[in-house]
Amino acid sequence: MENLDFLGNHFLGADFSISSMLLISLVVGTLFTFRRKIFFFLYKETDIDLFLKTLDEKLKTTYPKLTFDFRYLEKIKDEPNPDAKKYALIDNIINQYEAISYTPIHSKKLISANMLWSSYAFNSKNTNNKLPEDWLLRKNAIFERDEKTCQKCSKKMALKDSDILFIKPLEKGGDFYVENMLLVCNDCAKIEKYKLDKTQSLKFLDIREDLYSLGKDH
Ligand SMILES: [Zn+2]
Repeated sequence: MENLDFLGNHFLGADFSISSMLLISLVVGTLFTFRRKIFFFLYKETDIDLFLKTLDEKLKTTYPKLTFDFRYLEKIKDEPNPDAKKYALIDNIINQYEAISYTPIHSKKLISANMLWSSYAFNSKNTNNKLPEDWLLRKNAIFERDEKTCQKCSKKMALKDSDILFIKPLEKGGDFYVENMLLVCNDCAKIEKYKLDKTQSLKFLDIREDLYSLGKDH
């Protein structure tokens, strides 16, 4: 009997070891497979840090002359959902961008008279706020003079993404002389139009699309 008991215990021991091993492998395997979900608090923090770094770099390269304030993070530090945190910060950055105060002033860089065309002076007068026939020539001249850079937010852009801001708005009697025109990006044009007319929409800003897609990628 003693022998059998010994045998029995021995086998029980072996079974127990095997099942323990299996159980441990299962637990370790599960932990490993779902490590991002189970230890989300560790991983998500790293993600947030990476996101902040990418966001900061993106803002500095796109808007080299602007400074954005990240102090809002302090206010949302207790937000447990990392995605909610990211988008709350993005919205705050966009609010800062919309709130930049700007007083358009004449560009110091002049376009020399021989760069201008024969109909220039004639078409520079503002009649009925309609764009003059030589508008594209005018816009091109401003695009080059202002070095393809938004004069408000410092973003570099392609001609198709640019717009013109009138120092003295057309509605207030401003004209189409190049001295009254400044190159701005689409976003700044929309924001400045909104300041003059609050019925304009600020929903579709490029900065919103850019930063939201950054949020999705990180
Ligand atoms: Zn701009």
